Amino acid sequence: MDSKVAVVAIGGNSLIRDKTHQDLPSQIATVEETCRHIADMIAAGWSMVITHGNGPQVGFALRRNELAAHEVPMTPIDVIGAETQGAIGYMIARALDNELKVRGIARPVAPVITQVRVDRNDPAFRNPTKGIGGFMSKEKALEFAREGWTVREDAGRGWRRMIASPIPLEIIEQDAIRALLEAGFIVVAVGGGGIPVVRDEAGLLKGTIAVIDKDRASSLLASALKAELFLISTAVEKVALNYNKHEQRWLDRLTLSEARRYLAEGHFLAGSMGPKIEAIIAYLEANPRGKALITKPEAIQSALAGQTGTWVTAEA
Ligand code: ADP
Ligand code: MG
Repeated sequence: MDSKVAVVAIGGNSLIRDKTHQDLPSQIATVEETCRHIADMIAAGWSMVITHGNGPQVGFALRRNELAAHEVPMTPIDVIGAETQGAIGYMIARALDNELKVRGIARPVAPVITQVRVDRNDPAFRNPTKGIGGFMSKEKALEFAREGWTVREDAGRGWRRMIASPIPLEIIEQDAIRALLEAGFIVVAVGGGGIPVVRDEAGLLKGTIAVIDKDRASSLLASALKAELFLISTAVEKVALNYNKHEQRWLDRLTLSEARRYLAEGHFLAGSMGPKIEAIIAYLEANPRGKALITKPEAIQSALAGQTGTWVTAEA
């Protein structure tokens, strides 16, 4: 690979700006906006794999399944993962292709349906903790429970299905992603953290009922590719200590050991910033010379110029 490789993980805010912009035309417009900032990186010479989330889209798909269950067969969760990778991968590939074309940049874009292997004995399967789909009544929840789902009452907001979020171990299409990168493609992969698969006793792949954290899976990919940059694009320009509290302090730089310490002190909330910092820690442990950056899409360019964002490196 001639140019430097970045893994760019784009968060939910690159697809759905807010609750009033969940429709597909709005999602496409939001993706197009993010792709303008990503195209700036490509114009500056970066090679990259773009990864993305799919939480709300999986929720919508589950809801469609429920409403249509009397007419058409239900879609299993691994296949819903593949469907959302396809739909979102298409939106990103089309938007980026168009943006590059307008700028006269000849870089092809290729979305890759990606399976990610987890351990079928991962303890997460015994205690599913990740809420999935909408909230519902107790009666409805108990119906799902009879179908084999774990259901839980969530802090007064209603009942919800719970799903396992096991640790990603292997990106099945990794060699294909690398080959595409080496051939000059901008790759879209590991969408929604990847389609969760396990290997059975015979070593054969099987879809499984789980969702994989997209920050963790993106970190695994960035480590495997030895990417020079792991960029997590989300809704905040920088990471903060005492986030949303008195004495909030925005961070320009963090070392690996500071990241570990602040994480242990509870500065990064579980389920939002926590997994991102954990993902960056794992990437820097595997790749001590790598650089990690957290910022929002519209700040990517100035962050890469060293003017904003939160940078994390193994040493100061
Ligand atoms: P994504 O869809 O990009 O994964 P998340 O909502 O999961 O986004 O995580 C990003 C969010 O984490 C930010 O928008 C912010 O509200 C929240 N957050 C939690 N702790 C912090 C922190 N210490 N500094 C900055 N943001 C934080
Ligand atoms: Mg998140």
